[in-house]
Amino acid sequence: MTIPYVTLDDPQYGEAVQVAPLIRRVICRNPSKFTYHGTGTYIVGASEPGSDVAVIDPGPISESHREALTAALAGQRVTAILVTHCHSDHSPLAAWLKEMTGAPTVAFGPHARSHGWVEDDTPDELDAEETKAAVLAEATGEAKVEETLDFEFTPDIRTADGDVAASGAGWTIRAIHTPGHTSNHTCYWLEEQRALFTGDHIMGWSTTVITPPDGDMRDYFASLQRVKDLDPAALWPTHGAPVTDARPFIDAFVQHRLDREAGVLRAVRDGVTMIPDMVRLLYVGVNEKLYKAAGRSVLAHLIKLVDDGLVVYEGTQPGVTTPYRPCS
Ligand SMILES: [Zn+2]
Repeated sequence: MTIPYVTLDDPQYGEAVQVAPLIRRVICRNPSKFTYHGTGTYIVGASEPGSDVAVIDPGPISESHREALTAALAGQRVTAILVTHCHSDHSPLAAWLKEMTGAPTVAFGPHARSHGWVEDDTPDELDAEETKAAVLAEATGEAKVEETLDFEFTPDIRTADGDVAASGAGWTIRAIHTPGHTSNHTCYWLEEQRALFTGDHIMGWSTTVITPPDGDMRDYFASLQRVKDLDPAALWPTHGAPVTDARPFIDAFVQHRLDREAGVLRAVRDGVTMIPDMVRLLYVGVNEKLYKAAGRSVLAHLIKLVDDGLVVYEGTQPGVTTPYRPCS
């Protein structure tokens, strides 16, 4: 099943574009292999002076984006600053916006720091993210604009799944906890329009990075189902255009991951024990510079297969240098 990707033709940098009733979007000029055209900050609520609005994913530290948001929010009252997750293209500007508006920051929680295990060859997640960004930057000749972690961010208000995260005249936003890309990832559900702000959980232009241990493939599958069950009228990712036919799009995302998982299991059952060999087998035609990143994704699948009782690993913890074998 091919994923029916959607493109965004004109990012209209710095402009507050009315993309739907009650929804405006301002795109930051931080294009990269992780961010597509850049970070799309959403403003929910009426645009008239005096209106109450919520801001979703203020974005990276960027002077031009600060100026654009200041202009877009002039005369309105920001009642909540909602953050989907703590990657550096989503959350860092929340501190400034809080300072400027006095509005509380709202999220599931800060980025998780420890998952009880660290790989021998990969000191921490930041290293994995940076490595991927670096190889991508090198491969494409682009400036290194990476998806690193924002450990500074701690929300004033922590939301649980289903909580009202913000509300105003004629609109209500609920938190939908969607772990997978990160363990604290949360989507935001604008009830009146059945619109879901999906952060990096579901993007229209690309699949998302699942890098263990904070990224979790089993959680990701469950979170895709959680979103599908909402039956959204539209998905609004932080990067790129909205997905207006959500259910078949999610089905294609699920199938893509199931196909990869089946490929990993087949490789293990064929006697391939090491992740680098699986990557060479499964990522034919992909630039070798991306193999390390691909290895993280294969690891995410293997951890799920271990949990499913289909694969075992040698040693004390699953990692990129750990041998894997089929369960007999
Ligand atoms: Zn992210």
